[in-house]
Amino acid sequence: MIKENVYNLLSTLPEDIKLVAAAKTRTLEEIEEAIDAGIKIIGENYLQEAVNVFNLIKKKVKWHFIGHLQKNKIKKIVEIFDMIETVDSFEIAQEINKRCHQIDKTMPVLIEINSGREEQKFGVCPEKAKNLIKEISPLSHIKIMGLMTMGPIFGDPEDSRPYFRETRKVFENIARLNIPNVEMKYLSMGMTNSYRIAIEEKANVIRIGTLIFGERECRK
Ligand SMILES: *Cc1c(COP(=O)(O)O)cnc(C)c1O
Repeated sequence: MIKENVYNLLSTLPEDIKLVAAAKTRTLEEIEEAIDAGIKIIGENYLQEAVNVFNLIKKKVKWHFIGHLQKNKIKKIVEIFDMIETVDSFEIAQEINKRCHQIDKTMPVLIEINSGREEQKFGVCPEKAKNLIKEISPLSHIKIMGLMTMGPIFGDPEDSRPYFRETRKVFENIARLNIPNVEMKYLSMGMTNSYRIAIEEKANVIRIGTLIFGERECRK
């Protein structure tokens, strides 16, 4: 099932789109099946779930952190992840920078945009992104490589479009500023329900869970 899902998805995606398999709650076997079918990037929301499978997966894949960042987890996160997609404050960026410095690593990061301006959601509001990026950009062991957004969840994927479009505008505006040490290369938007709309709005990284692995079971 997972294999066919990955084949089908990959066969329909334009070549320049990076597909992140959002692996929260999935077992080692499920993740390995997805990798065998061609998945090259694993997205994890929780450090502990990544730690549980990281050393057991022998194939070469990239690891993207796509969950909420807690300061006390960052030391370990920077050790195992290849990209952090959810930076939304200077304080968190400073901690990433400090921990990367200690292990002599430069971390590619995306800035998470709260495109729905939702109270309970993480991310920086679109109008504050520029100042945050200017503040983070001089940090020596971080490289800002783009933006990420979730957007509000809708039944009709078309309803996501304005949020993706606004995030794309921020992306393009920041690219035009040519801020040193900032490269606006990746725009990570779209999940199972909304990835087609996201690609129409110029996403080049999509994060897909359900369409690859099936519905998530509620574990509580
Ligand atoms: C779970 C998750 C996804 C994937 O969601 P699906 O609807 O299952 O495709 C994408 N991005 C983030 C940040 C997630 O937490």
